[in-house]
Amino acid sequence: MKAVTFQGIKDVQVKQMPAPSILKPDDIIVKITSTAICGSDLHLIHGMIPNMPHDFIIGHEPMGIVEEVGPNVTKVKKCDRVIIPFTIACGRCWYCQNHLESQCDASNPNGETGAYFGYSETFGGYPGGQAEYLRVPFANFAPFVIPEDCELEDEKLLFLSDIIPTAFWGVDEAGVKDGDTVVVLGCGPVGLLTQKFAWMKGAKRVIAVDYIDYRLEHARKTNRVETLDFTQYENVGEYIKEITGGGADVVIDCVGLDGKMTPLEMLGSALKLQGGAMGAIVIASQAVRKGGTIQLVGVYGSRYNQFPLGDLFARNITVKMGQAPVIHYIPTLYEWIVEGKFDPTDIISHRLPLDEAKHAYEIFDEKKDGCIKVVLKP
Ligand code: NAD
Ligand code: ZN
Ligand code: ZN
Repeated sequence: MKAVTFQGIKDVQVKQMPAPSILKPDDIIVKITSTAICGSDLHLIHGMIPNMPHDFIIGHEPMGIVEEVGPNVTKVKKCDRVIIPFTIACGRCWYCQNHLESQCDASNPNGETGAYFGYSETFGGYPGGQAEYLRVPFANFAPFVIPEDCELEDEKLLFLSDIIPTAFWGVDEAGVKDGDTVVVLGCGPVGLLTQKFAWMKGAKRVIAVDYIDYRLEHARKTNRVETLDFTQYENVGEYIKEITGGGADVVIDCVGLDGKMTPLEMLGSALKLQGGAMGAIVIASQAVRKGGTIQLVGVYGSRYNQFPLGDLFARNITVKMGQAPVIHYIPTLYEWIVEGKFDPTDIISHRLPLDEAKHAYEIFDEKKDGCIKVVLKP
């Protein structure tokens, strides 16, 4: 089968790879109909997530049609249309039972974190979903079966695999409520969806920050938020504090690791954090009001183990973060899409065949050709 594979830093290639087969009795094989590229995939191709072997299949935002089911599978049957959440989760451990499926205790043979499709040996070593076929373990728990009478096209539903519930979790976990001022750092796909959910949760003011013009414009036009290009301010965090009369109630960081920096610059930036480098995390700590909340949705890695803890402590800031436990949010968010209460499709800028994945990664990474979100069609 064809699949998008990791070949080295900034080198992805569509290659012929062996098709997956059922390995455990509760596995299924899904024929992928649509699959998206995520900002998290950019961290992989920038070499920021360790243990990515040559030829590793990438991708964790897939949906498709069930092709084959293992003998113990009862939740889904052949020909069902399914959305596959990015988190691989058993459904039985304490974490899965307590709405923290992204930290499932049983899915990652290689460490103490949860496991994710197509996200390195460190995070479980499971081949990803930017491919023609995908093996899905623990199929009695995670897959969301789309009801047979649903006529919505893939595009409306695909992002339920990750960024819709991730964005919802971000505002929910941060406790955004009526009347809040919310700052969203990043106007990529995750930031844009987060802005929508901030309004839905009752925010009275939403301020979005980025530096890519067309993305700021999209945020302004589509989500009706105030926008700030952080390169236009000496210190955008302090500016936000000023215009909000003391800082935002909640700042949601939808940026994470900065892929433009080399590992050496990353190290320098991590060391500079205490002195005020302009990484998103530092903007967040300046823009939040005393007693406010910073929610890190953007992915961070071990290079960011230095953190401006002293300032945050002194100002009673709550910091929450993590891989989003998406699975239990999917049914409700699916209903919202069916009812027309939520529509994620405005973020799709490109629809391309899987064969053009290399080009797709290039424009998404370089923020070229107006690229916001790419859907690949195997
Ligand atoms: P993206 O790369 O398209 O978007 C990031 C945006 O941030 C870009 O538009 C970039 O210009 C902007 N940016 C860069 N530095 C900035 C700064 N200092 N201040 C403000 N904006 C800045 O990626 P995406 O698909 O939107 O994903 C965003 C983040 O969310 C990534 O880190 C991704 O790994 C993470 N993510 C996390 C989870 C989770 O479970 N926690 C799930 C999905 C994605
Ligand atoms: Zn993702
Ligand atoms: Zn589990």
